[in-house]
Amino acid sequence: MRPIIKFLAFSSVILVTMVATAGQQADPRAEVLSWRYHQHPDFFRIVLDLEKIREYYSAELTSPERFYLDIFQAKLKPGLHGTSVQINSPSVKALRLAQKNPSTVRLTLELVPGAKKGERIFYLKEPTRLVVDIYSTKPAAISGGDEISSEKPPQPPVPSSSGYSLVRQLGLGVKRIVLDPGHGGKDPGCLSPSGLKEKDVALDLAKRLKTILETKGNFEVFLTRETDINLPLEKRTAFANEKGADLFISIHLNASPRKNRTGVETFYLNFSPDPAVNELAARENASSTKNIRDMKLIVDKIIKNSKYQESRDLAEKIHRNLLQHLTKNYGPRQDLGVKGGPFWVLIGSEMPAILVEASHLSNAKEEAALKTDSYREAVATGLFHGIMEYVKSLGKG
Ligand SMILES: [Zn+2]
Repeated sequence: MRPIIKFLAFSSVILVTMVATAGQQADPRAEVLSWRYHQHPDFFRIVLDLEKIREYYSAELTSPERFYLDIFQAKLKPGLHGTSVQINSPSVKALRLAQKNPSTVRLTLELVPGAKKGERIFYLKEPTRLVVDIYSTKPAAISGGDEISSEKPPQPPVPSSSGYSLVRQLGLGVKRIVLDPGHGGKDPGCLSPSGLKEKDVALDLAKRLKTILETKGNFEVFLTRETDINLPLEKRTAFANEKGADLFISIHLNASPRKNRTGVETFYLNFSPDPAVNELAARENASSTKNIRDMKLIVDKIIKNSKYQESRDLAEKIHRNLLQHLTKNYGPRQDLGVKGGPFWVLIGSEMPAILVEASHLSNAKEEAALKTDSYREAVATGLFHGIMEYVKSLGKG
């Protein structure tokens, strides 16, 4: 994870996408074509029709209470700039749409003081729409059901019943493993209070795990980086693909503003409805240099990711084994769960791929432990047990 940076100043979901960068000739900005809004029984919904999916940022401001959404690399259709409407809803008083600067569109909501309970922001496809739902503390008197009430948030893909692991169906085993120590070079990842860097701990853990996998497991193991170098996220899975790896494991350390948070959190690639997961992914994705013209590519890759089932399975086994091993040797810690999350480093892998946040650099106890060889060895051993359980479940280990 990266240090607690600006993202934590924002309470809302930060969609983790990459901003399309300027093409040679074409205007890279996506046009906001139209917008509409409607009061539903328990939320106020605003829908923006966009040409293409673009990264956004949202935050709240005070005196007066406002909520805004900035859409990057976007422009308003002529005539929409400066649009302002008064609203009579339990949570929203007024809406404004403006071209904040040449590449940013800002939607501002003037809020009824104290009435906003939360919000939800998500994209819908075909046509591309950005949906903002504002939940209020008081229900509206109006009943829902109108032209936009059919717009539901995207659901995580459900694995097909026939698709349980091509790896299993073909009886394939695991021979080659790529380990990916998070961050590196100018990107230190997150820092512990005493200055321990995520990039250094992750590299050391990966090296230890490599040794165990080679000696006890007889695997062929490659590291995406063996030294303190900067490596773009998209090159990491590309490396694993080039190597023809059977598994890809990205190793990270967590940090939380809640200093008492401990334990293990493990991810496979998917959308997430959880703002905390999206914030974490935003931090882990922050160093990406990849330019993407359209998020559709990412969305399609997530949905069509044939390794979805295997990745989740691998994540579960690694998570449980690491947690058990650390708990057994170092006492109870929090089970933060196995979750889907939109992590750049997992996109594009041709093999089961997971990202593990092995411990917390932000927690004093885990930080102190992470400074010791024995704890690092225990983390590597826990990860090894998880990998072995997965491999054995394929019937070829
Ligand atoms: Zn990280």
